[in-house]
Amino acid sequence: MEIDYLQGLNDPQRSAVENYAGPSLIIAGAGSGKTRVLTMRIAHMLRQGISPRNIMALTFTNKAAREMRDRVTKILPYDAVRGLWMGTFHSLFSRILRAEAGLLGFPEAFTIYDTADSRNVVKAIVRQLELPDEQYKPNEVYARISLAKNNLVLPEAYAANATLTEEDARAKRPRLAEIYALYMRQCRQNGAMDFDDLLLYMNILLRDHPEIAQKYGEQFQYILVDEYQDTNYSQYLIVKKLADIRRNICVVGDDSQSIYSFRGARIENILRFQQDYPEAKIFKLEQNYRSTRTIVEAANSVIEKNSRKLPKHLFSENEQGDPIRVICTLSDKEEAQRVAADIHTTLYGRQASPDDFAVLYRTNAQSRVIEEHLRGNNIPYRIYGGQSFYQRAEIKDAIAYLRLAINPKDDESLKRIINFPARGIGETSIGKIVAAGQAEGVSMWEVLLRHTPEELGIRGGAVKSLGAFVRNFTELFRRSGEMDAYELAMEVMSRSGLIAHYKDSPSIEDESRLQNVEELINSVKVFVDEQLSGEGAAEGGESVAPQADLPQEGVVHGPVTLDQWLQNIALLTDMDNSREDDTPRVTLLTVHASKGLEFKYTYIVGLEENLFPSQHGGSASAEDIEEERRLFYVALTRAEKRATLSFALSRFKWGSVVPSQASRFIKEIDPKYLDMPPLPDTDSRGDGNAALRNRWNTAGTAARTGDPRPAFQRYQRKTATPPAPPVQAPAGFKRTDTRPASVPQGKPLDSAGELTVGARVAHDRFGSGTVTAFEQTATDTKVTVRFEAAGTKTLLLKFARLRLI
Ligand code: ATP
Ligand code: MG
Repeated sequence: MEIDYLQGLNDPQRSAVENYAGPSLIIAGAGSGKTRVLTMRIAHMLRQGISPRNIMALTFTNKAAREMRDRVTKILPYDAVRGLWMGTFHSLFSRILRAEAGLLGFPEAFTIYDTADSRNVVKAIVRQLELPDEQYKPNEVYARISLAKNNLVLPEAYAANATLTEEDARAKRPRLAEIYALYMRQCRQNGAMDFDDLLLYMNILLRDHPEIAQKYGEQFQYILVDEYQDTNYSQYLIVKKLADIRRNICVVGDDSQSIYSFRGARIENILRFQQDYPEAKIFKLEQNYRSTRTIVEAANSVIEKNSRKLPKHLFSENEQGDPIRVICTLSDKEEAQRVAADIHTTLYGRQASPDDFAVLYRTNAQSRVIEEHLRGNNIPYRIYGGQSFYQRAEIKDAIAYLRLAINPKDDESLKRIINFPARGIGETSIGKIVAAGQAEGVSMWEVLLRHTPEELGIRGGAVKSLGAFVRNFTELFRRSGEMDAYELAMEVMSRSGLIAHYKDSPSIEDESRLQNVEELINSVKVFVDEQLSGEGAAEGGESVAPQADLPQEGVVHGPVTLDQWLQNIALLTDMDNSREDDTPRVTLLTVHASKGLEFKYTYIVGLEENLFPSQHGGSASAEDIEEERRLFYVALTRAEKRATLSFALSRFKWGSVVPSQASRFIKEIDPKYLDMPPLPDTDSRGDGNAALRNRWNTAGTAARTGDPRPAFQRYQRKTATPPAPPVQAPAGFKRTDTRPASVPQGKPLDSAGELTVGARVAHDRFGSGTVTAFEQTATDTKVTVRFEAAGTKTLLLKFARLRLI
């Protein structure tokens, strides 16, 4: 059965579908039907009798390719679609490369190296050349090679390029060109290509073998590319070459949604299409079918601020819809609570399905606290294009270290981390330790304590590394009893070398891994605080009002151990494993991963300066900010019915509370599209934010009553909160003092000798109070304090960090 696919198209869309001969540029705003047009164009061409094997459609993700194929098969019989070349650049080109591998001197079944494989090759070369690891970090070297490849600079040209070699000399790695050459040779010897090679060799194939270029140029009579604004130079050239003969090339994109420049994407590719193909037909789609008028107009009002863009107008004829709601909370935890509670309310209030919801965040690490509160509310969720927090490799590594600190006999954990980050303790050495453990019936750690590496038959560099590893951790285990969960976790992380490993890397992936490890530390700190204050760990419930951030009274406190925390998360991670069925789920995803997708209700969380826009730990250039703004535009245009934005006034950074400021992007939205409810009245809790709340509420009220000044301008002007300094992983984990300004400072109180009944003290969380009693126990001193705001608490002196005021 064939459906009349042309019916569901407006005039410009229909014209873009029917005029498939010659070069076409479909440039249009978000949700205007670009992907729909591309799909329908393919269906239409097939319908006109063009053979599927003559059509190549390039998508940004494999999932997008699958969806397009499904759509086309709904219109046409399966047989008419079979043989269509539809997929990502990497998947389609690896297919061609396998067929032509012989010409390039590669085996047909060449291996494709992932990033980890590539780094290992780099590492081996650096070692073989006896170069210092610190100067030639595998990640940095690999990033450099990748950049060169994506710009089609081969080793020889690299060595001859003065700019590149001078850059390397300045970065104190003068032999990079040599490593690059050896890397290429090594991959070839191994019969392997890395991701960048798939594009590079495709280019080389087309350049050096005109007959091959001719062959594929003839075969792919029609080439279509979705999300063209995010292609890199290497991809651009391949497409251009393949389209050279027939010139039936159709590219679809939106310059305002170009968000992958950090991976080498070049917005210029779309901007210069008309120069490459002066005869190109330009199709502009201006009507957005996805979103309410409010969302489309609000998104327009933001992207307008970018200087570098093609002029276009986007409108919607859908209903006006709900205003864009802004949620402001006191902490990241409360933000997650509010979002989860709001999803819960909307689910039932509007009879929606969990599939209708998405939570979008700028960095992966933000998923943890959202996941926790969705679980607490029994709302099923999935992480799109990624793993749930506790399944991520770096989190499993970090947890393995933490488990080992509690239980050195945990062989599985020891095996996981003994050589990660790399310490030169290879598989052979590990095998010997395992064998000795089995022979003697003891754990691997016990083996390491009983025997020197030499006694185990271990030789070479591993001897020294094992010695250092054992010394480092023996010292840690000796002291682990003295620390609470948070202190111990910080200590373990600092000794593990994980932080340094990720921190030194220039790659975006490692930046994200470091943020995940940081978030794990935050979760330990939150757990400790919650236990001390008698709050349950993951609380759910239907309450929309923020949960009281303050503790109940009368709880007797003991030190919170890492063991307790590990038991708590063991349950969470266990729940993670029972996934993958057809249950409708809320989608959690990064803004980058959300490109091209749509959901009825979206929540964009963490809209704070330094987070979104991200500053990558440093200061952002005007161009960086424009890219972040495009990213925000992508985020905002995902919603069909309602978008909700949220930000928190404070956020955990390496376990300390740091104040944060609303994102400039909220301020940039024309306030007439916003709904900013007053901050919840939390005065009775004495959270010290009364002044801030007043300012916020005045700003919000003015917005609702039509004060023409943008609400956030007023809010910003009146807000005295200084911008949070960019927080780095503290070197060696000296805790930075980031107490809320409202808590009196005073002198640290660390010995019981300084205590008197009636003394005035201050606590980070509970504020100021008066000591009413204290009692010496076997290991510590119990202090009872009557806090003005938080009521009476009994605290252990060692962990309470009280200050005399
Ligand atoms: P993005 O920029 O986010 O990639 P897009 O331009 O590719 O968006 P599509 O995803 O193709 O837009 O379309 C957005 C939504 O509008 C989809 O749900 C699509 O089915 C719908 N749509 C597009 N054109 C029409 C039309 N003429 N009539 C009805 N619905 C349409
Ligand atoms: Mg699209």
